[in-house]
Amino acid sequence: IKKIAVLTSGGDAPGMNAAIRAVVLAAHHYALPTIGFFSGYNGLIEGSSSALTPASVNGIIHRGGTILKSARCPAMLTEQGLESAATTLKKEQIDALIVIGGDGSFNGLLALNKYWSGAVIGIPGTIDNDIDGTDFTIGFSTAVNTGIEAIDKIRDTAEAFERIFIVEVMGRRSGHITFNVGIASAAEQILSFENFSQTDEQDKLSHLAKEIKQAQQNRHASYIIVIAENLWPGGATQLAMQLKQTANIDCTACILGYIQRGGSPVAKDRILATKMGVAAVQALIAGKSNVMIGERNNQLLTVPLDVAVQHKEKVSESLVSAQENILALTAQ
Ligand code: ATP
Repeated sequence: IKKIAVLTSGGDAPGMNAAIRAVVLAAHHYALPTIGFFSGYNGLIEGSSSALTPASVNGIIHRGGTILKSARCPAMLTEQGLESAATTLKKEQIDALIVIGGDGSFNGLLALNKYWSGAVIGIPGTIDNDIDGTDFTIGFSTAVNTGIEAIDKIRDTAEAFERIFIVEVMGRRSGHITFNVGIASAAEQILSFENFSQTDEQDKLSHLAKEIKQAQQNRHASYIIVIAENLWPGGATQLAMQLKQTANIDCTACILGYIQRGGSPVAKDRILATKMGVAAVQALIAGKSNVMIGERNNQLLTVPLDVAVQHKEKVSESLVSAQENILALTAQ
């Protein structure tokens, strides 16, 4: 390979800049020129790009977001869009494309591969940690820390006003953020995909009401429920309304939302991103394609892209069981 390209796609995640920096610096080390496409796959389709040199990635490791911008790109779901993307890559004489993003972005790479013969590599960059084949994705650790900081602050008010809060956190359809944030902020309840199914909504509601009333009787000053987005129909706001209507319990709903996506990446994300960025360039040089860079038990590895997008990775049972055991104790 003689020339590589990199882009960031899907939801931005803290540490994406650290990954771009590592790709550019490693490519420079191996004398490979690099260009960056802007705004996810839109940059490919529209031919919007810029050469990336060590100077262009100077001073970005600590910055949230992504200097290449990110976006969704519905045109990638069409034949015409995929053909335009392939045409741009050929015109720019790109031999390999590295995409930093989530599972959707990897599906984009798999689709593009049918229209373009260059090598493709994915780097898992998403706060959701919902990608198979890697223990952690870039951005997850920062998002968890941001969630904890926010709930620590909410706890102060909850304690002072003896109030019940329902805090909704991100994660799309995965409970990694919910469980990690919930446990680390000593939430009284965690409601996530691992311990809830749609069919037991009514049971869960009456069980929750019972537990809250028990805690009130036991004079717990504050009570925090951490809930995964997309879990309860209508989310935290609706759950608060239902608890009021069915059990006369007053709750304050708080949706953490986008603050979880931003901010300076924590050390763990900067280091993971740097290792993965370098590994991506090395994998290309070793002739690999159609793979994602992952890390298992502190060992970097490559995972076929079609495996990475399967969504089998679940929150570890030890985490779910830890919460259940702690709950049993705190309820007393
Ligand atoms: P996150 O989950 O963190 O937001 P993501 O990469 O999963 O990240 P998506 O919005 O699912 O985010 O996907 C990003 C982009 O990838 C889409 O906007 C689209 O351009 C492209 N993409 C997703 N699925 C496909 C597909 N099946 N074929 C072609 N392109 C796709």
